[in-house]
Amino acid sequence: MSSVKDMIDSCIFCGVCAEVCPFYKATGNIKYGAMAKVDAANSLFHGKALTDEDLKTLFLCTRCDQCHAACPINIPISVIVQGARAELRRMGKVPEKYNTIADAIIKAGSPMAAPPEKRLSYIPLGFKPPEKAKYLYVPGCWSGIRLPETAKATVDLLIKAGLDFTVLGGREWCCGLFLIDTGMLEEAKKLAEKNTLLFESTGAEFVVTECPSCHDVFKRVYPELYREPNYRVLHISELLKELLESGKIRVNRSGKSVIYKDPCPLVRRHGIADIPREVLSCVAALVEYEENREETLCCGAPAGVKPVHPEIANRLAEMLLEEAAAKSAKEIGVGCVFCMYHMAGIIKDSATKIRTLSQLILENLSDIP
Ligand code: SF4
Ligand code: SF4
Repeated sequence: MSSVKDMIDSCIFCGVCAEVCPFYKATGNIKYGAMAKVDAANSLFHGKALTDEDLKTLFLCTRCDQCHAACPINIPISVIVQGARAELRRMGKVPEKYNTIADAIIKAGSPMAAPPEKRLSYIPLGFKPPEKAKYLYVPGCWSGIRLPETAKATVDLLIKAGLDFTVLGGREWCCGLFLIDTGMLEEAKKLAEKNTLLFESTGAEFVVTECPSCHDVFKRVYPELYREPNYRVLHISELLKELLESGKIRVNRSGKSVIYKDPCPLVRRHGIADIPREVLSCVAALVEYEENREETLCCGAPAGVKPVHPEIANRLAEMLLEEAAAKSAKEIGVGCVFCMYHMAGIIKDSATKIRTLSQLILENLSDIP
């Protein structure tokens, strides 16, 4: 595998990636585009002084990978950004919020440093999670802690479908995505081991995630950091599709138009685009963003962007909300609860709703068994 410096040195500064970056689209400033990030990393790794704009552009990256597909020589710019952030951390030049979030994940198990009991509210009264089960459902921090109604919708559906599943509740721990995004790979390795062993202790054949980033981390990153697990990793959309096709969940089709926002890691790193659309289309009329599937516009929040540059992160969420409104889609269907949390926080029009796939299915369950 080539080093970050080799990746930078292979860049021919052709400019193809510059304007595809969501942070160029949000600001119109080419210094926040993808090529500017390679340029800033080039200065950093060649010992040149960084300008304030160089530093800012390295922190304005969600690692959404939209630039990767655009590059004619296949340079993974998000890996360069990850390496640059690791280097800046060694130099003591990362924003203080980076340290606060990393500490919260390492010491308390979530970016919001929530106590373990905060992860219990999505578990319905009367459901006692078994110690062992075929499926392990992992809501992740944003669904399990910040928007527990989204995790509860999934758990309600899994109970309704009679699935042999369990949850970790207060024993669940963050996947460590923020550590990975900011180049803290030694700390992320410890989480890879801890979580892999915890998941395996349930005997699950399948680990099902609500969050597309947890899905990417468990499926693609942990095997690189630790080892291949004894279970398969599924995104919730994949399980919902199976449950709908097998008739374990039956739904009615509503007359609503719902616009679907692809989660960047789900579509760009795992090619999962048709399945969520098939699930959504069982209950509503699917509306598409102009930039959809592999071209989807990032919501702007992940990888430390929202805490450090909220105004720019919010602009991207606004662009997604504005397009949904322009297409008369009063509901936005999401495959990512972090996108949902971010967009819901800035909605001005109280008529616009954002729903996960599980919520959309739950709202349209059929009474006919
Ligand atoms: S990964 Fe996404 S945010 Fe980062 S430089 Fe590429 S396009 Fe921009
Ligand atoms: S598209 Fe690739 S080669 Fe061209 S500037 Fe971007 S990273 Fe460099």
